[in-house]
Amino acid sequence: MQSRPRVKYDVPPEWKKRIERGFCPVCNKPKEEFEPKMKVFCTPACREKYSEKILWWQDLREKILKERGNKCEQCGKTPEGEKTKLARESEKRWKNWIKENREEIEATRAKLLAYFSKEFEEHYKECMNDRYIANRAIDWEKQRELGLNNPFFTTSFEVDHKVPIADGGDPWSKDNLQVLCEECHKKKTSEENSKRASK
Ligand SMILES: [Zn+2]
Ligand SMILES: [Zn+2]
Repeated sequence: MQSRPRVKYDVPPEWKKRIERGFCPVCNKPKEEFEPKMKVFCTPACREKYSEKILWWQDLREKILKERGNKCEQCGKTPEGEKTKLARESEKRWKNWIKENREEIEATRAKLLAYFSKEFEEHYKECMNDRYIANRAIDWEKQRELGLNNPFFTTSFEVDHKVPIADGGDPWSKDNLQVLCEECHKKKTSEENSKRASK
């Protein structure tokens, strides 16, 4: 499969020649007229114009994600929505675990109360909270096994080429780019691959 180019370098040949001759590549101003401290470009504005001719895939990708709100254009999923959903589900599992493990909760509470010294009154308050105790009672690995931990970031969004590069799609045109959630992206990619294999 054809890989995605990482950078698009669109600097006109004339601009490169101007650099060699010691002129501002963008506006052709001689070095004597450059702003103080500027060495290659006469002004930050010209430097900016130059950098616009160099497009990095990572930059374009971030720009697209920002512009389009980090939302799957196929199913409408957002990372926020997904995180909230997972957090809710995990809290439900915590509640069940607490209900089913009363003894362990009380044993951990007793241990913690004995351990905390009187100077730390806030800890006594925490010890009255079942959810806090439960978190102390189960180690992190076990929490993961039980699906209790709330994944900090579980969804990743892809910037996808509507027409794949391998099928002649433009790698850089915004019209050919769309934001997809991981699930929709996987689905689309496998469909494309099987279509290509059957050709
Ligand atoms: Zn200039
Ligand atoms: Zn989706």
